[in-house]
Amino acid sequence: MSEKFSATLRIGDLNDFIAPSQDCIVSLKGLKATATKPDRAEVTVSVRASYYIYIYALLFRLIVAICVHFILQFDFQYELSGCITSAETVMLEKQSLDEFLSNINQGKDVIVSLSPQSRAAFAFHFGLSPVQVFRKLTTFFKSLGVKAIFDTSCSRDISLIESCNEFIMRYKQSHSIDGERSKASLPVLSSACPGWICYAEKTLGSYILPYISSVKSPQQTIGATIKHHLCQKMGLRPDKIYHVTVMPCYDKKLEAARDDFVFSMESQGEAQENAGPRIPEVDSVLTSGEVLDLIQLKSVDFNTLEESPPDRLLTNVDEEGYLYGVHGGSGGYAETIFRYAAKTLFGREIKGPLEFKTIRNSDFREVILEVEGQTVLKFALCYGFRNLQNIVRKIKIGKCDYHFLEVMACPSGCLNGGGQLKPKPGQSGKDLIQSLESVYMENVLVANPFDNPIVKGLYEEWLEQPGSEKANRYMHTEYHPLVKSITAQLHNW
Ligand code: SF4
Repeated sequence: MSEKFSATLRIGDLNDFIAPSQDCIVSLKGLKATATKPDRAEVTVSVRASYYIYIYALLFRLIVAICVHFILQFDFQYELSGCITSAETVMLEKQSLDEFLSNINQGKDVIVSLSPQSRAAFAFHFGLSPVQVFRKLTTFFKSLGVKAIFDTSCSRDISLIESCNEFIMRYKQSHSIDGERSKASLPVLSSACPGWICYAEKTLGSYILPYISSVKSPQQTIGATIKHHLCQKMGLRPDKIYHVTVMPCYDKKLEAARDDFVFSMESQGEAQENAGPRIPEVDSVLTSGEVLDLIQLKSVDFNTLEESPPDRLLTNVDEEGYLYGVHGGSGGYAETIFRYAAKTLFGREIKGPLEFKTIRNSDFREVILEVEGQTVLKFALCYGFRNLQNIVRKIKIGKCDYHFLEVMACPSGCLNGGGQLKPKPGQSGKDLIQSLESVYMENVLVANPFDNPIVKGLYEEWLEQPGSEKANRYMHTEYHPLVKSITAQLHNW
């Protein structure tokens, strides 16, 4: 699998396929490691036996490899549970700059949704503020023929509201008397990182999946809003809209390609099986780096580009032109839910910044709320594969006492995604992250997602209430333990 994807996703993929060859090595080693000293004849027989086993194993593997080669010629279809290495090429081609430009040229209505992490990457790269970047990218994309540029901080507020609601429900459930239901209620594990989700589905499977939040990521909530609601409201056909997001990592391309985020045309609000073409909520994902390539390809001097007013329909920008949103380069899940839970469950309004305490390393930090000497809320940020592995191990043995974990595959979180812009010459990766963290909220107002007027409007006219039947249908999803396909197992054998 390409190094473009997060290390966690790549590790998960390898683990998925490694088992058969591991068995083979173990059995050969076992023959060599006989504890008692055999006599000479036994040694000869044993060595000869292992020699034949080894030769037969080699021959068998050769035959299987030839068969697999032919099977793969016919089984090239992309599926997350299957042959990801060959599927990767197909997916990356389908979600490329060429496809993006070709859809504009075909006269499709193209919409771009920009992530705040990518915005920060451009801000630092060009020495601008996030709002200047947003305005200049609006000019740039519209000059290519894009119809509207939106902001995933806006849809992230929906993800956060749904996550707050879900957490309260699960916290209460965990304190209920129904033993079975309360057992799998906590901790809640965040779900916005596809690198982590793919790893959980492929490698950890059914014991961990019930703990993962069912809320869709900001990329998918903006996709659902555009394709399920905005299109209807504006009288547009969702299959005529080509929706592209700009994200900090390649893993987001995998997320957009998930079957769970593709739907059929609907009629009168009711989903109809096989009713017309299958429509993705997000047609394509471009990384920050790919957008920089596009800017260079078009020979645009980004710094001198004019600034256009943002499209306010799905962009967190106020009357005075300020961007607004929550703290946190990885979405601010732990912080937002912690504040909400403290207030809703314990009547505690937390003013000022939360005090996250570093536990093992800067990528594992926790915050707690104590009431009358008792720890009532215990949350943590858990970034990078090593921390993630430690925490799932604890969950497995029932020794995890956290109530919520913001889990991200990348060390340092989303600002450090594999699709971000590279450090400048002479700049270390660490310095770049620090710069991105400080530019991320530069002139961006901190705002409570529950006060977002756009999101309030969406609940009023469409979703009704957090956790409503409609909110569940459009803003939540499911995870599936992946059964390895035979092709996938053989391919890496
Ligand atoms: S941590 Fe963020 S940037 Fe990294 S893979 Fe996950 S979603 Fe992408």
